[in-house]
Amino acid sequence: SDSHFPVPVSPDEVDLSQHYPRYFPADKGGEGEEEAAPPPRIRFADVGCGFGGLLVGLSPLFPDTLMIGMELRDKVTEYVKERILALRASNPGQYDNISVVRTNSMKYIPNYFRKAQLTKMFFLFPDPHFKEKNHRRRVISMQLLDEYAYVMEVGGIIYTITDVEELGEWMRSCLEKHPLFEAIPEEEIKADPVVKLLSTATEESQKVARNGGQTFHAIFRRISLQEE
Ligand code: SAM
Repeated sequence: SDSHFPVPVSPDEVDLSQHYPRYFPADKGGEGEEEAAPPPRIRFADVGCGFGGLLVGLSPLFPDTLMIGMELRDKVTEYVKERILALRASNPGQYDNISVVRTNSMKYIPNYFRKAQLTKMFFLFPDPHFKEKNHRRRVISMQLLDEYAYVMEVGGIIYTITDVEELGEWMRSCLEKHPLFEAIPEEEIKADPVVKLLSTATEESQKVARNGGQTFHAIFRRISLQEE
C-alpha cells in the first residue's frame, strides 16, 4: 500500500515550513537576510518510526534539533501527525522540532537528506523479515548502509535495537563489515542519554518490556576513510 504519496525530487524540495512552522515563519520580512543564520536542517531521522514514541521522547532532550520520523503506513503516519499537533497545542513552545513523513525509507532516503546532513539515525524494532529470501527487505543491509553513511555526518551515530536475536546479529554484522561505521565502546553507550530511550520510549519497546523480552542493540559511529 505504498501506492500514492508525494516524493520530493531532491532534499531542496522538502518543505520544512510545513513540518516545523515555528522554525520557518511565513513572514521573513525580506530584510537582513544576508546576516541571518542559515536555516536549520533536519538532523535526526527515526526510520520506521511507528507511533512516534521515540520522537516524543527525544524532542525535549534536544529542543533545538529538528527531527523527522519516516513511516510507510498511511494511518500510522496520520496518527503521529495528530499526536504531534496535540502535543504542540497543549504544550506551547514545545514539540515544534519533531515531525513525520509518510515514505518508503528503503527507496527515498536520498530524496530527503543531503550528504552528511544527519547526526543521528534510529532503527528501532524494525520488521524482522525472517526468511532468507526476504533478508533483502531488511532496513539494515550493506547497500542501505552505503546510503545511510552518505547522508550521515562523520561522527554521527546510528542506533539499532530489536528483540529478535537473529536480526540483532544481522544488523551488528552488517555494521561491523561496513568500512564507514565503527562500534561505539559500551562505556560510551552507557553514558549516552539517548540510549535509555531505545528500550523505553517506543510503542514496540514498551510491548517487549511488558512481555519481559530481551533486546539487542548495535550502536555505531559514522567514521571517515582516508580518501574522503
Ligand atoms: N520503531 C517503532 C517502534 O519501535 O515502536 C515501530 C516498530 S514497527 C515493528 C516497524 C515499523 O516500520 C512499522 O511501523 C512499519 O510500518 C515501518 N516500516 C516498515 N518498512 C518501512 C519502510 N520501508 N519505510 C518506512 N517505514 C517502514
